[in-house]
Amino acid sequence: MSLFSSDEDYEPFEVVVIGNGPNALSLSFILCGNVPYYIPRQHPNAILDQKLCEDRGKSLLDSDLEYLSEGLEGRSFNPVALLFDQLLRPNADLGKDQASCLKWHYNGSRAMKHLVLGSGPPGGCWHNMEGSQLTLSLNNWLELPGCNFQDWLRAHRSLTVRKPCNLVTNGVKSDGYNYDRATTSHIAQYYKDFVTNTNITSNFWNDAKVVSVKRLLQGDCTDCRCRAADSQRDGCWEIRGVRTYAGIHEMFVVHAYNVVLATGNRVPKVLGISGENLPFVYHKMDAIARYLNELADPPLSMDPCLVVGAGLSAADCVLAARNKGIPVIHTVRRQANDSKIIYNQLPGVVYPEYYKVGQMLKGEMTTAYGKDSMYTAYTKTSLVEIRKDKECVLKKSDGTLFKQKVSSVFILVGAKPDLSFLHGVKRLGVKGLKPVDSKENPIDINPFTYESVKEPGLFAIGPLIGDNFVRFGIGGALGIANHLMKENE
Ligand SMILES: Cc1cc2nc3c(=O)[nH]c(=O)nc-3n(C[C@H](O)[C@H](O)[C@H](O)COP(=O)(O)OP(=O)(O)OC[C@H]3O[C@@H](n4cnc5c(N)ncnc54)[C@H](O)[C@@H]3O)c2cc1C
Repeated sequence: MSLFSSDEDYEPFEVVVIGNGPNALSLSFILCGNVPYYIPRQHPNAILDQKLCEDRGKSLLDSDLEYLSEGLEGRSFNPVALLFDQLLRPNADLGKDQASCLKWHYNGSRAMKHLVLGSGPPGGCWHNMEGSQLTLSLNNWLELPGCNFQDWLRAHRSLTVRKPCNLVTNGVKSDGYNYDRATTSHIAQYYKDFVTNTNITSNFWNDAKVVSVKRLLQGDCTDCRCRAADSQRDGCWEIRGVRTYAGIHEMFVVHAYNVVLATGNRVPKVLGISGENLPFVYHKMDAIARYLNELADPPLSMDPCLVVGAGLSAADCVLAARNKGIPVIHTVRRQANDSKIIYNQLPGVVYPEYYKVGQMLKGEMTTAYGKDSMYTAYTKTSLVEIRKDKECVLKKSDGTLFKQKVSSVFILVGAKPDLSFLHGVKRLGVKGLKPVDSKENPIDINPFTYESVKEPGLFAIGPLIGDNFVRFGIGGALGIANHLMKENE
């Protein structure tokens, strides 16, 4: 069954965005006709300022992003991501909290007919996180264009932001640096409100899961009103899915000239070892939080839980289990002081909880009574088998095997995308045959347009192209809009 209500709706969309997380929200905001302009003399980088002032009055949608982003360096491989970040948060990496250099003007004539499809509420994976957890990013780094986070926060005063340490006053230390970190539930709510506050709701179908995306061959377009039907160009994209409304599931099919993949990382990675499917083995933080919440006070004799992984979720899990009174065994494959472990990269003053786990891993954390009996670290160790009787087999880097009885196993070793809905599409990753992975094999895109190098008309944004932070992911919104809106002039 189709959800088209009239013949007019049967026109293909210019753009369908799959996923409704922060990156999709930013893109929709621009596609709705919100056009960014540089405020002359605002940016502290004299070269960038000069370049931006060369064509005064020209919007960023009509500018040459390759020229503007040339020479910018930072924590993203994507030049447009660095440019957009610099303009929205000048010198953020120096700890500065300077105002945005962009002003936004609404111009309805620039708007593009588009649809954002997401399987949950607007905000994407932020709605699946443990809500009281503090974000890794400072809260202004999670802000989206056109909706000031501090203003939103002031309007929601009852949701007080926790301060990570007592050195911080109102989020701003005496040195003028902003160390504020919000909770993930604040951010989820801010993203949900973003859609209404910026008036872009009508472009969203939430609770709409896409199950199939394929390019129609030229002859297949006779039913739709796409430009391909009476021309020699490639057919448009057909997007099929299931939409849930008031508890009722309905199939839908829509057509689009361009598809943007903004689906993030949603599938937890697995180790691929025997016993990983046993009921006491968990891979998702929300399921772990539920398990810990439902657990009655653990007896003193309770076997330890085993936490596998050296990322932030693994650290959160270690702390949550200890807080619950469950002894923790923490295994990581690297050495405790390996600089690639994120706990060794984060300053303790801003991230006391992750710094603490790093110290625990190195054995530098003791209690008033000496060694912490609630925590044991096995570094340079891998979990190789989980048995039904809750015995785990671990392997040291020298090949020695040893066994450990546990109460539960929490495997938190990252997440990967699920692009199984793509049909007849070439291998999209930079490494060709391997599955797409934000770290190992991101989607191969043109760095200025975010269009797939292998599939014209298919775009990708965020973790799918290796931008795992919102701050940089939203750069894709500028790149895609600049390409499509310029093309459409
Ligand atoms: C625990 C945790 C903490 C984090 N902390 C930070 C932080 O402090 N700072 C930071 O910058 N980043 C952080 N991140 C990363 C950040 O969440 C992501 O970079 C960001 O949300 C990616 O945005 P996105 O819009 O690309 O996708 P997502 O936010 O992942 O949203 C994608 C959406 O697409 C939907 N979707 C997927 N497939 C389909 C389909 N077939 N049909 C319909 N919808 C679909 C998903 O359900 C999801 O809702 C954190 C991530 C996690 C897991």
